Amino acid sequence: VPELPEVETTRRGIEPHIIGKKIRSIEIRQPKLRWPIPKSLIDILPGLTFKEVQRRGKYLLLECAKGTLFIHLGMSGSLRITDQKKAVGKHDHVDILFSSGIVLRYTDPRRFGSILWHEGDVSEHPLLASLGPEPLTEDFHAAYLYTLSRTRTQAIKQFIMDSKVVVGVGNIYANEALFTAGIRPARAAGKVSLKRYQLLVQTIKDVLAEAIAVGGTTLRDFTSSDGSPGYFKQSLQVYGRGGLPCAACDTTLEEIRQGQRSSVYCPKCQR
Ligand SMILES: [Zn+2]
Repeated sequence: VPELPEVETTRRGIEPHIIGKKIRSIEIRQPKLRWPIPKSLIDILPGLTFKEVQRRGKYLLLECAKGTLFIHLGMSGSLRITDQKKAVGKHDHVDILFSSGIVLRYTDPRRFGSILWHEGDVSEHPLLASLGPEPLTEDFHAAYLYTLSRTRTQAIKQFIMDSKVVVGVGNIYANEALFTAGIRPARAAGKVSLKRYQLLVQTIKDVLAEAIAVGGTTLRDFTSSDGSPGYFKQSLQVYGRGGLPCAACDTTLEEIRQGQRSSVYCPKCQR
């Protein structure tokens, strides 16, 4: 599943290739994604240019003079920069063709992604209006989490994975950050101290920034004609390591299910 770092890497990868380039056409081979792709895009997009590629949560926002194209990669989506000569694969559902000859190609085998169009202020769009702060901005800080959590009995892991609380903390990053901050995933969010939240916030910022930095080293893949976008693997301390020894203390890591997601933690290092 593309997480926030992959989406940010995609944003950085496509932006320099498409900004200021005139759109010639959009070809929609399969409109049935999570929601249908609006057919009106066939008439709206030609002649326009993207001024900016922004990101909010896991939405890529491609901004034109007339409106904004929203792209979400869902469970298995990806975008790549290619050209018209490149053969179309079974899951290559959408091409945006530019006058320069390059193509922005959307591929999505499971079709849980989305491509939508919005005219007007994007921050008021229903998909974005209720989102919490971006984790890598100053709006995301320990006092914010601490204050918000005081009445919460839900588990800390579910609390930080709630996009209304903060966007972009996926399951892997939540597991890793809780390990580094020394907090058990099942602990009630309202019982976590301000000091622990300070450590947790810093860890979330570090782990996401590191993933984006690693992703940045693969950006050249966005220009190769046959390479898939450069996703990446980080070294993981707990995720996927249930039953194995803790890297810090050798205690066997425990694995539990929370909201149908796997949580792995060290019973000695995390309290
Ligand atoms: Zn340990």
